[in-house]
Amino acid sequence: MVLNLMTEEISKSQNEIELSTPVQYLKSVGPARAKIFSELGVETVGDLLEYFPRDWNFLPEPIKINQMQPNKEAALVGMVESIDYQSFRRQPLFEALISDDTGICRIIWFHGGYLRNQLEPGQIVFAYGKVTIYKHQLQLTNPKFIVLDEEHSKSPEDLSGGIYPAAKELSNRQIKRIIKPVIEKIDELVYEFFDRGFLKKNILISRQDAFKWIHQPPDEKRLSQAKRRLKHDELFLMQLGLALRRYKVQHFSSATPCIYSAEIDSRIRKRFPFLLTEDQDSSIAEIVKDMGKTEPMNRLLQGDVGSGKTVVALYAALLAIANKMQAAIMAPTEILAGQHFLSIERYLKNSQVKRTLITGGLTGQKRTALLEEIKKGEINIVVGTVALLQSDIEFQHLGLVVIDEQHKFGVHQRAELRKQATPHCLVMTATPIPRTLAMTAFGDLDVSIIRHSPPGRSNIVTRRVEQKDRQKAYDFIRERLRAKKQAFFVYPRITAIEQNGDIKAATDEWINLSKNVFPEFKVELLHGQMPSEKKQEIMSEFRKGKIDALVSTVVVEVGVDIPNATIMVIEGADRFGLAQLHQLRGRIGRSEAKSYCFLFAETENETANSRLEVMTRCNDGFEIAEHDLRLRGPGEMFSTRQHGLPDLKIANIIDDFDLLVLARKNSFEMVTQDPMLIKQEHKNIRRALLHKFGDTLGLADIA
Ligand code: ADP
Ligand code: MG
Repeated sequence: MVLNLMTEEISKSQNEIELSTPVQYLKSVGPARAKIFSELGVETVGDLLEYFPRDWNFLPEPIKINQMQPNKEAALVGMVESIDYQSFRRQPLFEALISDDTGICRIIWFHGGYLRNQLEPGQIVFAYGKVTIYKHQLQLTNPKFIVLDEEHSKSPEDLSGGIYPAAKELSNRQIKRIIKPVIEKIDELVYEFFDRGFLKKNILISRQDAFKWIHQPPDEKRLSQAKRRLKHDELFLMQLGLALRRYKVQHFSSATPCIYSAEIDSRIRKRFPFLLTEDQDSSIAEIVKDMGKTEPMNRLLQGDVGSGKTVVALYAALLAIANKMQAAIMAPTEILAGQHFLSIERYLKNSQVKRTLITGGLTGQKRTALLEEIKKGEINIVVGTVALLQSDIEFQHLGLVVIDEQHKFGVHQRAELRKQATPHCLVMTATPIPRTLAMTAFGDLDVSIIRHSPPGRSNIVTRRVEQKDRQKAYDFIRERLRAKKQAFFVYPRITAIEQNGDIKAATDEWINLSKNVFPEFKVELLHGQMPSEKKQEIMSEFRKGKIDALVSTVVVEVGVDIPNATIMVIEGADRFGLAQLHQLRGRIGRSEAKSYCFLFAETENETANSRLEVMTRCNDGFEIAEHDLRLRGPGEMFSTRQHGLPDLKIANIIDDFDLLVLARKNSFEMVTQDPMLIKQEHKNIRRALLHKFGDTLGLADIA
């Protein structure tokens, strides 16, 4: 009696499943299985529908025994007539004869002893595999099979269809059984997003069919249609979130527009001892236009190392200052902040513009006094690290924020900054970002690109050096150092962890280089764990040419600008990624003197070899970024989560680039038409968007 009641209870809730129903209330799922599902990230029916197979099997249509053809795949349905196990043969063999209304067929499985407990005469089986000839007879050899057994309701479907990501205590078959009744209700569960015209124009099938076929594809064609639709929707929702966020920034927060005049322009340009390049000019034109609006600028400035971004940023800062506002420039490390400050000092010598550098070392009264000046608007440019974001620093009127190397900060921090005020925002990156990433992680930014570096740069000669030629390389470097050039030696780590001696570390090699290899030169050590004053001091000595060679870890990676340094040795180069190698190399080749980069590898492996090969052949950051993408693959390079974006379940921003472009276009169009998604026909999309990406994209206020 009690049992009956319970089944009734379950079947009642079965009838009323919704996307938000916990999987626990599905047939054959109880608390135990619900727990396993939960570990797979599946809490609700909606999650289950998005628990997509990772692969699919397609079974051929069964044929009759008399239609079999040699050397082809065939699927048969027949009754087991007899079985036999020949264990004494050199290759033990399990044999079954099956029949249908057209004939009898022999099936053999080598090493098939385990089948003795599975097959017995009288059963109906579905078998598919390769047709071979044995003693002039056609037979199936080692086919896959399934017993079609009414009692256990097995069917060929158990062999075909989706293969779900492995789950320890939940077999593929169990998952399929659990999903099946949900799929049967798909038309009630899943809502369409778009009208027929849209679907037709974009060659998309319905959402209901897409969910049905991704789990239970009748054939390959419909599977790929299902994938296309689901990928489109996933990318569409992500892009829609970005489009909305952008819309919000543009329309609900306002910035002070900066007035621009020919006079301001020429006054700013006088600060630079050179003509700006064409690319610098066009980036500036875009920035000037942005900053002239009441919508805050939200622009990404991309350019290879040394391409002249800092100059562009300073132009923007001076434009803000000409409009009686302040500018903040932030770098990811103190060294870089210090360096930005120095180059700004160089350009602004004898100018009225008041600038200051805020470092972690600044404390007490001095700091308080400085903050007071900033608050009163007496200081025009504040340079510092990201700490500027979190600190108690208040501006009188912050008109522009420049963030250097922003990809290290992530999207959230950028949002953080916007809370303070709504200044115009310029983000600079020296890592060329392939188009795909620019559209996703930075999908709500406008992009300016500096493609060509200023004139007067020599090309860098890059060579991979074998260990046996180490001395030759040192001799060559010695000659250069004698000619008063400077060198970087970069190591993957500070101290040796492994004891096998193969892996070089900065601290040990510094001793070796300064004592044994270059005793006649001043060789200094620099690494991230040194106190910041010490680091600044060494950098400043190196900049002044008082140090000949700098042994360091990747602390010199970004931004360091010392034109007289024309040699770079990278040890353990196989341990660095392409982007990082290119960044490092960008420290040299900053003057007309020829520069040299020597790469030493510690191990031989194929991917490392191809990376180093790309380095010796190619100097263009954008080209290198493309190679990087190809060598590393999307997974490693594009953890969307790392960039503060939701992870994608089915789409892949590299492989599905075309769909990404389409989805981006469609979503941006939708926001233009219906910025708050309040139209009735957008109800389902709005709901799905908030459910899926509301948290990660911070869309709460759209709700
Ligand atoms: P980035 O910030 O892109 O790494 P920088 O702005 O620091 O590049 O510029 C690198 C070097 O090139 C600096 O020494 C700078 O003075 C110089 N430079 C920048 N723009 C020009 C230009 N238009 N002509 C000549 N030299 C330039
Ligand atoms: Mg720079």
